[in-house]
Amino acid sequence: MTGDTIATDVFVRIETDLLVIGDSIMTDRHHASNGNYNADDPQNQIGGIIPAFPLSGWLRHGMEEVVHEYGGTACHPGEANANFMKDDVYERDLDGSYHEKGACTGDPKADNGCVIFDLFGGFAGVPGKVMRRPIKFNPVRSSVDYTRGQAEGHYRRLNRNVVSRNADDNREPLRNAAVDAVANLDGCWHLSFRKAKSEFVGLLAEAVEFLDTHKTEFMHQLGGARNFGAGIVDCELINPLYEERELKRVFNRGKSTTNAMDEKDERWTDERRPAFIDALEERIEAGL
Ligand SMILES: [Zn+2]
Repeated sequence: MTGDTIATDVFVRIETDLLVIGDSIMTDRHHASNGNYNADDPQNQIGGIIPAFPLSGWLRHGMEEVVHEYGGTACHPGEANANFMKDDVYERDLDGSYHEKGACTGDPKADNGCVIFDLFGGFAGVPGKVMRRPIKFNPVRSSVDYTRGQAEGHYRRLNRNVVSRNADDNREPLRNAAVDAVANLDGCWHLSFRKAKSEFVGLLAEAVEFLDTHKTEFMHQLGGARNFGAGIVDCELINPLYEERELKRVFNRGKSTTNAMDEKDERWTDERRPAFIDALEERIEAGL
């Protein structure tokens, strides 16, 4: 993005020591292995993809919290006519800070509904206006293209043994569970707004800050294995005023920021960000 138009492509920096995404991390092990793959070899250079689903849920939850903080209600993520396993929990959500998904729009194809619905859609075949991409990771930093929403990350397969508790068994393993994990992840998550709106950027900026502040809270960690310290994410919206080469520089540990970047940081913090937040406040106040 150049100049001061509203950004449609934005990048969130994501750093975490350990990320466990159930069993859904996809690796390109078959390329790297050449038949000799050894899961324990620290030299293995396996890259992969973190799907957007868990990232999206994490971000959405952060955004819903921000909408609540500004006194609004957010679209419930579940279909209103779904057969919820826990109906009473759903009803309680609605009594609190949520409205039924899509209740904010008379005609989803014609009007935008609340800001959460506008961004995430998913009702009556209406796509959300924020496209969440997966994050491609690679252990070799020089192969990581941050401007395409990639990250440095180290794939590991963790093995856990569930052992017998009976003293006679001498902790004999009963079951072995393997978990896919990415360690030392640092990179960019690329989000694209299908339509440029000030309040979208405002909500994203606030939600990313919220998630960073609440990163050790169970509810706002990312992925699985949270009881084991996984999914604690340092996150930061990369200044949308940056150009590509400046974005790359953020990840270059050998180089500090340029004067131009410092100037953009100031302009972002003092002028642009507050204007985007104002737009968000106005929209939430209007009940939309
Ligand atoms: Zn809504």
